[in-house]
Amino acid sequence: MEEKTATPSNFIRDIIDEDLRTNKHNQKVHTRFPPEPNGYLHIGHAKSICLNFGIARDYNGLCNLRFDDTNPEKEEVEYVESIEEDVRWLGFDWDNRMFYASDYFQQLYDFAVKLIKDGKAYIDSSTADELKEHRGTITESGKESPYRNRSVEENLELFLAMKDGKFEDGTHTLRAKIDMSSPNMLLRDPVIYRIKKADHHRTGDKWCIYPMYDYAHPLSDWIEGITHSICTLEFEVHRPLYDWFLEALNLENRPQQIEFARLNLSYTIMSKRKLLELVQEGYVSGWDDPRMPTISGLRRRGYTPESIRNFADRIGVAKRDALTDVVLLEYSLREDLNKHAPRTMAVLNPLKVIITNYPNDKTEEMEAVNNPEDISMGKRKLSFSKEIYIEQDDFQEVPHKKFHRLSPGNEVRLKYAYIIKCENVIKDEKGNITELHCTYDPETRSGGSSMKKVKGTIHWVSAKQAIKAEARLYDRLFTVEDPSADPEKDFKEFINPDSLKIITDCLIEPELAMAKPGDKFQFERLGYFCVDPLSTEKLLVFNRTVTLRDSWAKIEKK
Ligand code: ATP
Ligand code: MG
Repeated sequence: MEEKTATPSNFIRDIIDEDLRTNKHNQKVHTRFPPEPNGYLHIGHAKSICLNFGIARDYNGLCNLRFDDTNPEKEEVEYVESIEEDVRWLGFDWDNRMFYASDYFQQLYDFAVKLIKDGKAYIDSSTADELKEHRGTITESGKESPYRNRSVEENLELFLAMKDGKFEDGTHTLRAKIDMSSPNMLLRDPVIYRIKKADHHRTGDKWCIYPMYDYAHPLSDWIEGITHSICTLEFEVHRPLYDWFLEALNLENRPQQIEFARLNLSYTIMSKRKLLELVQEGYVSGWDDPRMPTISGLRRRGYTPESIRNFADRIGVAKRDALTDVVLLEYSLREDLNKHAPRTMAVLNPLKVIITNYPNDKTEEMEAVNNPEDISMGKRKLSFSKEIYIEQDDFQEVPHKKFHRLSPGNEVRLKYAYIIKCENVIKDEKGNITELHCTYDPETRSGGSSMKKVKGTIHWVSAKQAIKAEARLYDRLFTVEDPSADPEKDFKEFINPDSLKIITDCLIEPELAMAKPGDKFQFERLGYFCVDPLSTEKLLVFNRTVTLRDSWAKIEKK
């Protein structure tokens, strides 16, 4: 597990402190992270993971990983495996406490039998339409089902027949007998079991009745000895039901449900259903497309677990929904990469420069710092010779007023090398610039004694030594802050058509030839880049993780 960090306090930790003081749970702190394996985890889940596992870590408690797999049709083993990988990658460990709600199907069934025997649940043979009709509305109370007063014996017999597959889907349900006139519609005799003749990814065809989430969840928590069952705000109205089941079954040492505001991020969608749509309809290359807010997408993009954990600490937990600015996530990322990513030079759009007064066969070794933020990361040698490449953008034939880089007759410093001056612009027949002829000032070698100063410093690579690579420049996947804001509109209307730009012939420092998938670098002046898993020895592919500064903020300020 990762180092203990100082997580700021919050209202959930206050509740736990108070419970420890009053000895409510016998000094135990036990949380769980309960994903439904129906998609890949996203950054919102990361918030929940950091919260649940972070509390367990800081209170010397435990946190379980529990797959909430009560919905046989949408769940898959692929998702289970990706969830395990993602939680581990974030730096958390559940030891041997990986559970499935489906592990408890027998116990949950037995609890249901007990509810029936105690007259607290009944079999309803109404159709789905009738159930809906009798439910009432927020302003109108519901109607009791004609089956509500079936005898215990009849209910037991029917429930057994349901379990034994004697009925078709949708013909009967088991309902809790609570209160059809409750202002909380969730308490109007909620369905707790339905018939579904579907294979389950773990239990196969053993069961053809499946428990509903609201029923399975509190009881799974209780079975595992969870003390604090932390979930998102939309479950606040479910809490009376959560408590009702525990009470109706007379269970001791009850877990307490605590709700917090889910993470919403600007320019991002967070619903698994919508993310699945993007994957299935080919808007992205897969769940781990570097533009996806999934943990696997963020990992491939170059995010580090530390940056995500720091982000989670930074946003904290609150009781009210809000939209968090994605800039904050990017800030946490830059902060971490700035400390750890080695600097290198790469040219995305190369423009050849010939240094006319530099000896033909000469090569000099220049010294470059690997990370000015961390001197212990050392230095490296950069070969410098007569032909180099610079960024096309670093030259303007007719310079703007504030352009301090290379232009005809103007001087610029090549980082870690010399000051050069542009003497001649060479063009092809069509008038495109093909190369620049420059001279260098031998007195201005970097680290030397020359006091000469110029306004601009640019990066470069040596033509002889540089190697080719592909760069993938990612931008936000959506063009608006909240793509789901208008329920009338399809969120896919707001997909950014320029969210991926592929540059195939970049030139990079030869040292990078050794880079392995997942390695992260800062390309000086260009941003942080990460080697994509698609990379081969023949062709290195770099994903731009994030730019050096928040370019969007800059645009808004202009
Ligand atoms: P989605 O709405 O994206 O489909 P979900 O809530 O159905 O997600 P689950 O697999 O049920 O997904 O989520 C597992 C846990 O993660 C739950 O405890 C849930 O409350 C939490 N969680 C899900 N989304 C967020 C979010 N955006 N912010 C914080 N926690 C979240
Ligand atoms: Mg859910």
